[in-house]
Amino acid sequence: MDALHRHRSLYKGTTPPWKETYRRRCMDRLKNSRSRLLDRYRQMGETCSSGASIIVQEVMGEEWTALQSEDQRLPSLWGSGGMSEMFNVMKEYDELAVLEDIQQELMSHEMSIIEEYERNLQFEQQYISSVVEGMDEMQIICPTCHVNNLNVNSYFIACPCGLYINTKKRNITPEALRNLLESRMSEHMGDCLYNPIFSVASNTDSSPNLMISCKVCDYLSIVL
Ligand SMILES: [Zn+2]
Ligand SMILES: [Zn+2]
Repeated sequence: MDALHRHRSLYKGTTPPWKETYRRRCMDRLKNSRSRLLDRYRQMGETCSSGASIIVQEVMGEEWTALQSEDQRLPSLWGSGGMSEMFNVMKEYDELAVLEDIQQELMSHEMSIIEEYERNLQFEQQYISSVVEGMDEMQIICPTCHVNNLNVNSYFIACPCGLYINTKKRNITPEALRNLLESRMSEHMGDCLYNPIFSVASNTDSSPNLMISCKVCDYLSIVL
């Protein structure tokens, strides 16, 4: 009787005694192989076919070899053909179902690692693009001094040169401010080629306004 048959007669019809240990250790090994999995996943790129495992079969092969080196009674089922060869050899044994269960569990965990990675990647990309947009929006040069960038927040617009406009009740975003500036500029440019001047007009009744005016064509308008 060879090792395989002896093994079979011992455990026929029962859950293999190594099942829980093997399952747990495969799962640990998979969790510890997160960077290997993600490296492989990134290398696969677009060719990644859904439904196929990425490193599960490797993990199961490695762990079986490790388990077997500790327990010589376990059959050496892992040939050069990897998982498929193992399944072929085991076809007539109860272990097959056990291995398939473990493989399924590992594959769904592998999938959850990939999904988590994809979610993080998406979040990162959204964050980066929002920062880039934000930086772009922050680059509004002060229209009165033409030197500093305006500090725009939900309470006020300010510049070290002294420009200060309370915007607390108007919810002026950097983008909204830029649109206001651009629309007033283009409105003036429709009739006049001279550069307009921006200034802050103090108003006793309400908070100061940012004005745009032109001495050449007498254009005068409130920006905000
Ligand atoms: Zn300024
Ligand atoms: Zn003008």
